[in-house]
Amino acid sequence: MASFDQFPALVCKGCSWPIPLPAAVHPDTSEGQGLWPMGGSRRNFLCPACRHVYEYSAQDIQFMPAQTDPRRANTPYNVVYIRLRCNVQGCAYLFRIRTLMAFDKDPHKEAPVILASSHAHAIVCGNGHILNGPIVPYGFAFDVQVDEEWEVGKGVAIGSSTLTATIRSDAIAV
Ligand SMILES: [Zn+2]
Ligand SMILES: [Zn+2]
Repeated sequence: MASFDQFPALVCKGCSWPIPLPAAVHPDTSEGQGLWPMGGSRRNFLCPACRHVYEYSAQDIQFMPAQTDPRRANTPYNVVYIRLRCNVQGCAYLFRIRTLMAFDKDPHKEAPVILASSHAHAIVCGNGHILNGPIVPYGFAFDVQVDEEWEVGKGVAIGSSTLTATIRSDAIAV
């Protein structure tokens, strides 16, 4: 069945690498094919492959062939978010930048490494300030947490398709 050979992902707007998406805990059934969490369409995601950060929305979800799944076999993955304070003086807004991380990685150790080589593309603060370019000059992460809006992404049945993490051997180390 073709549907079992696909997984939902955001396709990186920079390098076209698929960022696999686990199921949303409280999906918004009105958009994103029921795969996007409630509480706002737009979310910033950092691509684990190229570390460029773009804003994505429910409409950006695509079904990708299983052989392109970059996850390590039999390894659960979490969506984690890193919060960064807006660097505009007087602005207390916290950006949230999400990424996909294997459960056996420590987000608190990984976040500074990831951010050190990350690059933002028009990420908008809640007060309208726009973050562009390398993120590190904007300061250190405020915190990093597993995003409980998403389930752990391993072998989760979603409608007619199945998230499968058992395919590819040349997985990236994130
Ligand atoms: Zn990328
Ligand atoms: Zn701001």
